Amino acid sequence: MSDAQYDYIIVGAGSAGAALAARLTEDARVKVLLLEAGKASHPYSRFPISFGLLIDDPAANWCYRSAPEANTNNREIPVPRGKLLGGSSAINGLVYVRGQPMDYDTWAQMGARGWSWQDVAPVFRRMENFEGGDDGVRGVGGPLHVSEVPDQNPLYDALFKAGEAAGYKRNRDYNGLDQEGVVKTQTTIRRGVRMSTAQAYLRPARGRSNLHIVTEAMTHRVLLEGTRCVGVAYERGGQMVEARAGREVILSAGAVATPQILELSGIGRPDILQAHGVTVKHVLAAVGENFRDHLNARIQWKVIDPAASYNPRARGLGLVGETLRYLFARGGFFSLPSAPLLAFLKTRPELEAPDVQMHMVPYAIKNPKKRQLHDFPGMTVAVYQLRPESLGSIHIQSPDPKAQPAIRFNFLHDSIDQRTMVDGFRMIRNIVESKPLDPYRGEEFSPGKAVASDAEILDYIRKNSETAYHPIGTCRMGPGSNTVVDDQLRVHGISGLRVADASIFPTMPSGNTNAPSIMVGEKAADLIRAG
Ligand SMILES: Cc1cc2nc3c(=O)[nH]c(=O)nc-3n(C[C@H](O)[C@H](O)[C@H](O)COP(=O)(O)OP(=O)(O)OC[C@H]3O[C@@H](n4cnc5c(N)ncnc54)[C@H](O)[C@@H]3O)c2cc1C
Repeated sequence: MSDAQYDYIIVGAGSAGAALAARLTEDARVKVLLLEAGKASHPYSRFPISFGLLIDDPAANWCYRSAPEANTNNREIPVPRGKLLGGSSAINGLVYVRGQPMDYDTWAQMGARGWSWQDVAPVFRRMENFEGGDDGVRGVGGPLHVSEVPDQNPLYDALFKAGEAAGYKRNRDYNGLDQEGVVKTQTTIRRGVRMSTAQAYLRPARGRSNLHIVTEAMTHRVLLEGTRCVGVAYERGGQMVEARAGREVILSAGAVATPQILELSGIGRPDILQAHGVTVKHVLAAVGENFRDHLNARIQWKVIDPAASYNPRARGLGLVGETLRYLFARGGFFSLPSAPLLAFLKTRPELEAPDVQMHMVPYAIKNPKKRQLHDFPGMTVAVYQLRPESLGSIHIQSPDPKAQPAIRFNFLHDSIDQRTMVDGFRMIRNIVESKPLDPYRGEEFSPGKAVASDAEILDYIRKNSETAYHPIGTCRMGPGSNTVVDDQLRVHGISGLRVADASIFPTMPSGNTNAPSIMVGEKAADLIRAG
């Protein structure tokens, strides 16, 4: 296909972009060019445990770092983002969370009409192939396989009982209408293999003659004729190429790169563009603002019973056993998502819905070197606030498309965020220190009991916590001057240009962000088809 023949150009083949490309090309008359800066695949990506291996591998990951900020002790926090077909879904922790119905009703209430729970629930349903079956809320037969973690471990049973002892129920389907409780994780894993959107959506679509996928093609900017977007300029193999779209360009480069591409194209805040020598083509002050992420704080314990922790089994001879277990039974260490157990809990009983999420992991890592395990049996429980209030920003800091933008989290700026993180941290200890875990719980070695007062806990969080890898909101959807796209995902004031990825979320969904990002890609296809 020559460039002139494309109806749509999609930039970024990640969670949203791959789903969008696959859905649009179901109509054989529609011709799509899908541009992805990363490679087609990475040999580790299909194994779930690759989460820990690809976290800092530039062959599959943009490996950004945040700007140092006083709120988090002036640290440069690593910001991994997937750089492969499948985007971040090809390197992520495989945890599958839709969020709470209230999240989407909030979006609609903020002016994103057509995005309420009632509107998005059918989209979540059609994208799923949930092993637990169709109960009217969950979906079967969709492209994305969703399965509950099959791994068994007496530590998991003890954690469920510990949750109950602390007053928290067990929930059999947190992706139903009620999220609250301690739960076995649902994952984007099928028979031990990662279901990235490259696997789930692009693989079945790749043979279509109307879908042209170009990898290692880095988009520098969109092409504008006045206020109409007519195509993109991208670099491949050291050559610049211009591709034109007959109908529209859709940016799906994710919450870090999409605002960067808009700014490099001259769309954004004039002061920021001019400071970096970019000619202002269209003033849109909200580009790169409204940035949120989850701040993740961990507590680690030694585990008394070595059989209950993966630390001994994921080293030396144990590793041989785990390899065989994976190869022959698709089980064990290599088949785990980033956390086999989760908890969605309220820090205060009067809350309407959970405000913190915990990830429970049957091993201990040398933080922040995630690929290194401790040489003693351990366990980790981490917490983040589900819907943080603090707002940061992502803006260009150079006119060079290859220079990463400045990522300013502004974590813990809001006092509610500080309070919720400290409360969530205490709740972890409350659960793990309860009686059912007595046979397993050894010493809390990180941070250790000496970190006890609210001030000490907050200080520990400032010095040690990291992102949970869920950047969103930098091209916020809605009406008004503090948004970038309308409820049809069209960039305000520019025709022929939409955004479809996690950058459009007006607020943080309550949980991990892969499922909502795929939902955005699916829904974008509906909106585009509807004209
Ligand atoms: C390490 C890690 C762990 C995570 N764990 C989980 C989890 O367990 N569960 C969960 O629900 N979520 C998880 N997430 C978050 C989730 O994966 C993301 O929210 C989601 O994938 C975002 O989708 P997206 O479409 O917005 O962007 P992405 O999936 O990141 O896709 C953006 C794509 O655009 C490409 N791109 C960027 N710039 C350009 C350019 N200039 N030209 C061309 N292409 C470009 C990128 O290479 C990428 O392929 C994790 C993320 C990471 C990084």
